[in-house]
Amino acid sequence: MGRYDFVHVLKIVLLASVLYSAGCNNENKGPSTPPGPGNVTGKITGTISGGPIAGSTVRIGGASATTNSNGDYIIPGSFSGVVGINVDGPSQYPRQVTKDLSRSLVANIDVIEKTSAFSLQFYRQLVRDAEESLFLRPTNRWEGSEPTFFIDTSPEIGTGAPIPSSTVDTIKSVIRQSMPVFTNGFITGSRITVTSNPPAELTSGTIIIKFDHTILQRGTFGVTRIQTFGNQIDAAVTRLVLNPNFPFDELTSHELGHAVGFFHASDRPSVMVAVGSCGCGLFTQDDRVHMKINYSRPAGNTDIDNDPPDAITKSLAKREVIEIVCRK
Ligand SMILES: [Zn+2]
Repeated sequence: MGRYDFVHVLKIVLLASVLYSAGCNNENKGPSTPPGPGNVTGKITGTISGGPIAGSTVRIGGASATTNSNGDYIIPGSFSGVVGINVDGPSQYPRQVTKDLSRSLVANIDVIEKTSAFSLQFYRQLVRDAEESLFLRPTNRWEGSEPTFFIDTSPEIGTGAPIPSSTVDTIKSVIRQSMPVFTNGFITGSRITVTSNPPAELTSGTIIIKFDHTILQRGTFGVTRIQTFGNQIDAAVTRLVLNPNFPFDELTSHELGHAVGFFHASDRPSVMVAVGSCGCGLFTQDDRVHMKINYSRPAGNTDIDNDPPDAITKSLAKREVIEIVCRK
């Protein structure tokens, strides 16, 4: 046994000893003080798989611990108040979170795994507009309560054509199938109103779907505008061409993807592909995996997997409307 191995084994023995003590403390003092005053403990799991992440290092200031095969860690100390916690390891992307230890000394943190299921390039295109923007946007997402979808059945702008009920049915179906997948269940698509008199465009809490033939002049079958407030989307309006020469359910799913915070992405098969049809129906498995990550993080992330403490408050006063034109 070499010196390194000996030290390693010693560490394991010491860790086991600490864990054993922690168990005793739990039994004696109850679950409100796990595993002892000032010690921070928790589990590191994979964002995609949900399984434990072994071998990751969890750091608070100069103190650190490595997760065991169950993803568990314990950092002995006298920690309190708001602290920054860094998690990094060979099988994950680094993550930084802030944690208020006055509420709990347990810090369970999920991290994105470095597996073939995840593409950093695709994520940055889809979530942070890396494909078409000159800079990486902070993430946008809906927060708060479920938005109401208004399907505007007024005659199509530009042609006056009536809106077929079959088209309305398709849109309803897409909302109910795509929205829970795109938003990790945050938006259920249960609030749909079909009306010829919807609220004004970009009314807070609404996603309005209109039919507008004039956008064809811009070389597109679909245009979506989202209104963000402190990186939280609070309104969106989507304009579709009636009966385009394009899979209509895919087009609707694509535009609603913009409405809930996603941009064009071409690095992997995606319904959010910038040009043309993906031929994939409403979404791909890559869409499902990467969209879920955006909706399992706070709005305003500026790093792949990083929650700066001021990410949301920093831009609370900034209201912005982003228009996304889709070339088809
Ligand atoms: Zn688009």
